[in-house]
Amino acid sequence: MAEDWDVVVVGAGTSGCALAARLADTGRRVLLLEAGADHREPADFPAELRDAATMRAAAPGHEANWDVPVELFPGRVVGVPRGRVVGGSSALNACSFIRATRADLDGWAAAGNDLWSFDAVLPAFRRLEADADFGDRPGHGADGPVPVRRPGEGHPLADAFAAAAGEQGHAAEPDKNADGPPGYGPVPLNVAGGMRVNTAMAYLSPRRGLPGLTVRGGVTVHRVVVEGGRAVGVRTADGTVRAAEVVLAAGAVGSPSLLLRSGIGPADDLRAAGLPVVADVPGVGAGASDHPQVYVPFRPLRPLPAGLPLHGVLHATSQGATAPGDLEVLPWLTPFSRITGAPAGPHQDELLVGVGLQREDSRGRVSLAPDGRIRLEHRYLSEEADRRRLREGVRLAVALLRSPALAPMLAPGSGLPGPVLDADEALDGWIRERLTTAVHLAGTARMGRDEDGTAVVDQHLRVRGVAGLRVVDTSVMPQVTSRGPAATAVMLGERAAELMTAT
Ligand SMILES: Cc1cc2nc3c(=O)[nH]c(=O)nc-3n(C[C@H](O)[C@H](O)[C@H](O)COP(=O)(O)OP(=O)(O)OC[C@H]3O[C@@H](n4cnc5c(N)ncnc54)[C@H](O)[C@@H]3O)c2cc1C
Repeated sequence: MAEDWDVVVVGAGTSGCALAARLADTGRRVLLLEAGADHREPADFPAELRDAATMRAAAPGHEANWDVPVELFPGRVVGVPRGRVVGGSSALNACSFIRATRADLDGWAAAGNDLWSFDAVLPAFRRLEADADFGDRPGHGADGPVPVRRPGEGHPLADAFAAAAGEQGHAAEPDKNADGPPGYGPVPLNVAGGMRVNTAMAYLSPRRGLPGLTVRGGVTVHRVVVEGGRAVGVRTADGTVRAAEVVLAAGAVGSPSLLLRSGIGPADDLRAAGLPVVADVPGVGAGASDHPQVYVPFRPLRPLPAGLPLHGVLHATSQGATAPGDLEVLPWLTPFSRITGAPAGPHQDELLVGVGLQREDSRGRVSLAPDGRIRLEHRYLSEEADRRRLREGVRLAVALLRSPALAPMLAPGSGLPGPVLDADEALDGWIRERLTTAVHLAGTARMGRDEDGTAVVDQHLRVRGVAGLRVVDTSVMPQVTSRGPAATAVMLGERAAELMTAT
C-alpha cells in the first residue's frame, strides 16, 4: 500500500519539533503526531506554560503533564512531570539551557558513536541558538530558532552566591556553553521577554501553513506497525498512518514504551506480557541514567525581588570523578510554592539549593511488567560512589551558604545541622529521606556499536532489527549529559535531521 507520508514523527517534544521542522525544510512530507494539545502560535499557549517565572504545569493534574509514576529506589515511588503538549518537556521545564560538555559527547563517541563527538555536533548547537550574550563568539550562533540569554547582575542573593563561590575557591564560568573548565556562572536560559520559548514555538510556529509539515495534536500513538521486518507506519485510535519512515521522538519514557508495546525489546519480557516478539532487542529500557537530586533549604533575611527563579549555577568536580563538573549546585531564588502554585504552608519564604549528581554510576530501567504496564525504576544511589559524591555535593552547597559573602544574608538554621552534615551515616539518611529526581532521564534506547548487545540504535539512530524505524530523543543518549539535557535534546533533533537526509 502507498505511504501517506515520507516520515511520521511520534512526539512533538523537545527533539521531535526540531527534527520535524528541519526534515520539512529539506522537502520531505512530514507528519508530526502529539498526544497532548497543539498550540499554533506562542500566544496560543496557556499563560502558565508561557510564563518562565513559574512551573505550574509541572504540578500533578495539569493536562500538559503526563505525571509518570517512578520508583526512585526500592520502596519509594513518586509521580514526576513530563510534558504532554507540543514542545514536550521544553514547554514546562525550568529553561536552563546548557549544552552537554565535551567530556559527555566525546564519551558518546568513544562508545562507538563518532558522529556525535563534541566537534561533530558543534555546528548543530550553533545552528539552534540565538545567543543574545555571546552569539558573535566562536562556537556560538546568533540567528537560530532558540533564544538564549543569561541573567545579569543586580539580584542581591544571586550576586552573593557568585561571591560565595569565589570565596570557596571555585572558578568563574561566565559562559556555561563555552567548552571551558567548570565553575560558577550565570544560567543560560531559553527565555525571551519573560516567556519560556519551547521548541514548538521556536521550530513549528514559523512553519505553520507550509505544505511539507503537518502537526496533529491530541493523537496518541499506540504502537509501531511492522510488516516483513520493516516499520510501515503507526497505529492510533483512528487506524494506521502509513509512512516510508517512522521516527519515535516520544521522550525517554515514551519511546522505549512504544518499542516494547510494538514487540521490540527483550524477548522474554515481551512473551511474559503476551506480546508477539517482532524483534528481540535486549537493551530496550535498560541502562537508563538520570540526575538524582536533593534540596538544601535556606531562608533569606529580607524579601527578594520577583523574577525568574534561576540565576547562577555551580559545577564542581567530585573527588575521584570520571568527568569534570559532575556535581551541580543550583540555587532557586523563588520559593517553590510560588513557582509551582502549591499551597504555601509554614515555610513559605524558604528557598532551596538543588544539589544534583550529574554522572551517576547507578543505572535504572524502563520495563514491561507481565500485566502489560510500563515500569520505571531509577535505582538511585545503589552504588556507594554515588552516595559518597552526593554527600560531597550537599557539603559543598552548605559551605556556600556558610561563606562570608552569603551567611549574613540568611536566617539562622539555613542549611543542615552540623551533626547531620558531618557524619556520613546521618547525612546518607537525610539525603535518602529527601531524595528526588531532576527529571533528566536518558539512555533508555541507547545508541552504540553493533557489537554492543545492549545498544538499541546505531549512531544513525536506526533501531536494530527493524528497518525504517529510528528513535530521536533523549532515549538514545548513551549516558545522560552532565548538564540538564534540554539543549542537547534540541541538538539531537537538529543533528538527526542532518544524518537522515545524508543516508
Ligand atoms: C519539570 C521539568 C523541568 C525540567 N527542567 C529542565 C531544565 O531547566 N533544563 C534542562 O536542561 N532540562 C530540564 N528538564 C529535562 C528536559 O526538559 C527533558 O530531558 C527534555 O526536554 C526531553 O526531551 P525529549 O525530546 O526527549 O522528550 P519530551 O520533550 O518530553 O517530548 C516527548 C513528546 O512525546 C509525546 N508523546 C509521548 N508518548 C506519545 C505517544 N504515545 N503518542 C504521541 N505523542 C507522545 C509527549 O507528549 C511529548 O510531547 C526538565 C524536565 C521537566 C519535566
